[in-house]
Amino acid sequence: MKKIILIICFFMFPTSLLAEENVCDRIITGGGYQEYLDDLPSYDFNSAFHIVVGDDGSCTYGWDWWETNRALEDVMQDSFNDCEEDRKKKNIDGECRFYDINRKIVWGKPELYEELVAESSPELENSKCHGFFLENFNDYKSTNNKYFYTVESEGRCEYGMGKDADSAFNECEKFRQENNIGGKCEPFAVEDQIVWGKPELYAELTGSKFKPSEEIQKSMDEGDYDSVDVGMWQLDGIINSTDPSTLQKVIYIGKEKRNFIEARTDREDKSRLFEFKATPYVYDAYYENGKIFEILIYFENEKNKSKGKDGSLAEKYAFMIGQMPNVLLQRLDAAHIYADVLGISNASAKERIINIHPEGEGGYVFVTAIEELFIHELVHASLDKPIHGVYQAMNKKRHKNSTIKSKKLNWGDWRQAVKKDKKKYITKYAKTSIHEDLAESFTAWLALRYKDDRISDIQKVVIEKKIPNRIKYFDEQEFDMYPLVLSD
Ligand SMILES: [Zn+2]
Repeated sequence: MKKIILIICFFMFPTSLLAEENVCDRIITGGGYQEYLDDLPSYDFNSAFHIVVGDDGSCTYGWDWWETNRALEDVMQDSFNDCEEDRKKKNIDGECRFYDINRKIVWGKPELYEELVAESSPELENSKCHGFFLENFNDYKSTNNKYFYTVESEGRCEYGMGKDADSAFNECEKFRQENNIGGKCEPFAVEDQIVWGKPELYAELTGSKFKPSEEIQKSMDEGDYDSVDVGMWQLDGIINSTDPSTLQKVIYIGKEKRNFIEARTDREDKSRLFEFKATPYVYDAYYENGKIFEILIYFENEKNKSKGKDGSLAEKYAFMIGQMPNVLLQRLDAAHIYADVLGISNASAKERIINIHPEGEGGYVFVTAIEELFIHELVHASLDKPIHGVYQAMNKKRHKNSTIKSKKLNWGDWRQAVKKDKKKYITKYAKTSIHEDLAESFTAWLALRYKDDRISDIQKVVIEKKIPNRIKYFDEQEFDMYPLVLSD
């Protein structure tokens, strides 16, 4: 993040140097200003940097920063005093003036200065949601999301996060509508920078205007739905921990030998899949109608296992599996949970196993998108076409689950539906293969038909506009979607 800021600053120097008066090069390039920039925290601060240029060309500077619990006016005063002190010491005949406020160069930019000072009673400080926002902002920083949106009305607050502005906005709007909160979701942070009430900073960081909702609306008015993705990431939260599960009990079996097949990037031969044997913690998860699935909790390094960790992971994911519609469990053999291995979660119809990495390759976590990850992977395991070869049980099946009737998709009809949708895909990822298209489209269909109160109006329109024939196709399958209930 720091890098981006510095690059922006370098771009800005030429214009500020061309301003009516010269700033002392020595201060800018000689380290004084850089020292200030380096000292600033990445967010939640008030800061100012002053420069004085004497009649004889000699110059000096002063600066200060505090956390936002100290008002910007006071910080500006301290910075001025710091500069004044040095000015007097060096007998410089001139006036200490603002060069930078809150990491924005205001030298020769009176309008920007006015704006920043007008903002100087920081909204955040007066906000009743201040603590709530900052707390969730901290959680957000541990994800690999890049945008954090918030809304506040009459002291009630909500937020949303996403990899792009649209999905963060959509998530926030969804919760706002769900909880009947007034107002409109606005950007709170871009990466780790708080941009709340700072449209200029937002524009600098993103190169776009403040209100992406208007941009989405605009592209939609122009009939350009293609740029709006509505897949697993954007639909996070359509199933959440408050939804019912058909799980009845989870029983620990013991540490037993099992076969695994897993995608890894750290392989020397660069192959994405490899098989290995291990002795994971084996659990049996029992569900309504006598269904039992095996849940394997695997630690690559047993030292990473804390007391009870395997059990709590087994419980957590067993519950989640019970929240999934029956049709997505129809061919499931087992869930393999890689408790301490960063990786890409995956599944295929060939093995009928879902390989779940609670932490992704870059160390990201799914937060509210974990249930949607399960929907996506279970589509691969239970509905998808085997990528190559036919079904092969990874491990000898201990649970036959003979009560489950399996429904096969008609691929000819699916292709027709895709064709009728005129080469439109619900997400960019869906476009990469028939398998991802199926998983992403199914998730969108599920959201539209079963969870329409948890998605935004914009998302509904986009799903209906982009993939109407796939939606119709899913509608006609009469899937067993229990325990999900159709929206009214
Ligand atoms: Zn997939």
